[in-house]
Amino acid sequence: MKIVRVEAVPLSIPCRYGAEGWTLGAGGWKALDFCLVRVDTDAGITGWGEAFSYSCRRAVVAALTDMIAPIAVGRDATDIAGLHAEIQKRLHIFGRFGITAFALSGLDIALWDIAGKAASKPLHALLGGARREHLSCYASLLRYADISLVARYCEQALGEGFGAIKLHEVSEPVIAAARAVVPREAALLLDVNCEWSVEEAIAVGRRLAPMGLEWFEEPVFPPEDGTGLRAVGEACGIPIAAGENCCFATQFAALFDAGAVQYAQPSVTKVGGVTEFRKVAALAAERGIKLAPHSPYFGPGALATLHLIAALAPAARFEYFYLWADAALYGDLLVPARGDVKVPQGPGLGADPDPDVLRRFRVD
Ligand SMILES: [Mg+2]
Repeated sequence: MKIVRVEAVPLSIPCRYGAEGWTLGAGGWKALDFCLVRVDTDAGITGWGEAFSYSCRRAVVAALTDMIAPIAVGRDATDIAGLHAEIQKRLHIFGRFGITAFALSGLDIALWDIAGKAASKPLHALLGGARREHLSCYASLLRYADISLVARYCEQALGEGFGAIKLHEVSEPVIAAARAVVPREAALLLDVNCEWSVEEAIAVGRRLAPMGLEWFEEPVFPPEDGTGLRAVGEACGIPIAAGENCCFATQFAALFDAGAVQYAQPSVTKVGGVTEFRKVAALAAERGIKLAPHSPYFGPGALATLHLIAALAPAARFEYFYLWADAALYGDLLVPARGDVKVPQGPGLGADPDPDVLRRFRVD
């Protein structure tokens, strides 16, 4: 089965999260950027993948179109590992991590979708089988930087049935306001997106320790500072989570070697797709490190994460990005009900994107 076409499908879907002002790179959260990856084969099977592209959509589209598609077209769609390894090697000179890894992740996910469809099996069956039919989600709140807003949205998420909430806040009074409304029987996670130096993170972490946070995510900059992460965890006694900014299993191995994390957070649209996520899962299992996949996604990356958690990390929750978009690619498949989502059971990823949404929200 040969790959006959690899196409980037860029989308922008407006969204709201209840506040404004939280930026990502030079962009923000007024719309969800997507770089979907459509792969067609000569067997008539089409696969869909997703490359991370929030606030970097055009760069990822260019990497996919100009650097990856020309290598992939004409190749055997069933040799995922071989093609993936060759692309990593041929593109290493352009930067091992970041945009090229995001684009390769999108191709990889699409090829696994094709593999599942060709076998008439859901992706999780190719990964050893689902150990769960439903997954618990955590509500991953965006940054409000406001005491009353954070309390309001924590209460709203709890009322909808979420049993765990993640904050993206860096102000201690705002974090305390959330803890005041999230009861101790619900998990509270804190992600500060690499806000502090090691010394600052230790100081803040010691003050936060009595709050009983389940994890302290990416407390320091730079994210690959494994020694610093370990020092923060040891000093404040809160389990450390990190890894959404690691690409490929090699970067996770370095974090693990440093004793940096208790929770590893591979992100399927960034880490190198299903192929590299599996390697990270195996490495984490060997080292006794828990998996907590990063998945603030609403496309094929979200579906792939559901299959990966169900098969390889059944104790993990699914990260549900707590925002409201103007359209959904899969109807209500990814909308949690009482804090749970179903593991898809159809072939491959289990669903294809809604063609009407692709048409309405396609951008350049
Ligand atoms: Mg994070």
